[in-house]
Amino acid sequence: MTSVRLTSNREWLRPELSDVIRLFLGDVPISADEGEMALTHTEMEDAEGYTESCALGDVHFARRAAREDGELAQKRAIKRAAKNAAFEVLKSVFGIQPPWGSLTGIRPTRLMYEALEKGMTLDEAQAWLKKEFFVSSEKSALLKEILLMQRGLVQAPEDSFDLYIHIPFCVSRCAYCSFASGEVGDGKLTGPYVEALLKEMEYSARLMREKGLRLRAAYMGGGTPTALSSAQLDRILFRAGELFGKAREWTVEAGRPDTIDREKLETLKKWGVERISVNPQSFSDETLKRIGRAHSAQDTLRAYALAREMGFHHINMDLIAALPGEDIGDFARTIDKVTSLRPESVTVHSLAIKRASRLHEELSVAGSAHNQASVLGADEMITLARRRLSEGGWRPYYLYRQKYMAGNLENVGYALPGYACLYNIGNMEETARVLAVGAGSITKWLFDRQRRIERAPNLRNIEQYIQRVDEMCLRKRKVIFEED
Ligand code: SF4
Repeated sequence: MTSVRLTSNREWLRPELSDVIRLFLGDVPISADEGEMALTHTEMEDAEGYTESCALGDVHFARRAAREDGELAQKRAIKRAAKNAAFEVLKSVFGIQPPWGSLTGIRPTRLMYEALEKGMTLDEAQAWLKKEFFVSSEKSALLKEILLMQRGLVQAPEDSFDLYIHIPFCVSRCAYCSFASGEVGDGKLTGPYVEALLKEMEYSARLMREKGLRLRAAYMGGGTPTALSSAQLDRILFRAGELFGKAREWTVEAGRPDTIDREKLETLKKWGVERISVNPQSFSDETLKRIGRAHSAQDTLRAYALAREMGFHHINMDLIAALPGEDIGDFARTIDKVTSLRPESVTVHSLAIKRASRLHEELSVAGSAHNQASVLGADEMITLARRRLSEGGWRPYYLYRQKYMAGNLENVGYALPGYACLYNIGNMEETARVLAVGAGSITKWLFDRQRRIERAPNLRNIEQYIQRVDEMCLRKRKVIFEED
């Protein structure tokens, strides 16, 4: 593993420039004092604006940032110019072009919307992304398709909010899980957790009544919500209906197929949940064992058939590309199986190996050789998924990127026409208010016609959350009502 010495006369740009370095070199050590290679950034100001220059050895590129009105707009212009200069240097040195170009953010769709706001057409926005940020034709076409799918769905009504309920329990631990054990419990705390959650829900519902807002979409995620007992799910869903009213869309991540049974599905149906996730991740039993999922491919098929038999008309399936030990053949078998089942939506993730996960530790010990092999195949896998899903009628409707993701790629939600999930779009594009309850959940509140977002994060540790739920309620109130 190499290391990089990064120097800059603009300290605030160091994290941005580090992100660009990671596009080419992965999660390498980067410091201001030492490193096997040295990237230098220099900013010079003149009457018309700024010149952002980057150099590595004798390779040198510079980009201009014009003067802008307002501090925020100026910083953004400078940041883009500096990142592009660094990108061009690294592209020239390493001779590779990452598919997302110099973009390092979570939401590349944002830039497309920004271009539309400036008056560009979708085609012009696509061309701008390619020219300005070096985004590949394939990725910019993907963004264009997503924006088309989001038409008419992306703006949540002014008087609405979406509800997120977090259930931080799992039946076993996946190798790629980055939650600390205090953040994904072993099930012993489920009773007190449900009590605390109901308390927070009651308080939050009062806030919504005071604000005069109505529920649009509801989403219960985790963890694995169906790791709770049927009686616990029943209490939460009944109370959610009583407190917040009927949702236009109700999703529960049933996630692990080994937590799904007839009784739990009946409970979900009883309270109006019509969208559930049954997540295979892979249809290879060997892979499932390797990544610590305590279920088999057969369990997934059984859970899916049961949900269908019980009349669930919107089932989502999550898959992960570049799982350890999987090659393109394994992934193709999984995607073929999924398309033959015809779930209404499919989410294709690229494996993100976060530092806190067991997998990260194992790969570090093994010198990462195996991980590199997976990363190289990730792009091929998600390209194959896109092709097969498109042929079957699924369309991409939301996308996000994460740090530490295999090959710097993306997670994409696909849906058959009419089945795009409102909650996912609103949350990802940050165009809907999200009222979140439960440990580790984050309430996101929009102000000034969505130009400003304020967040109220809850404590992630389950025990702490239970003990301090009143504090979480007040924190939420302060943010929503902008109190001091
Ligand atoms: S299902 Fe999610 S939260 Fe639970 S162990 Fe696996 S990765 Fe972690």
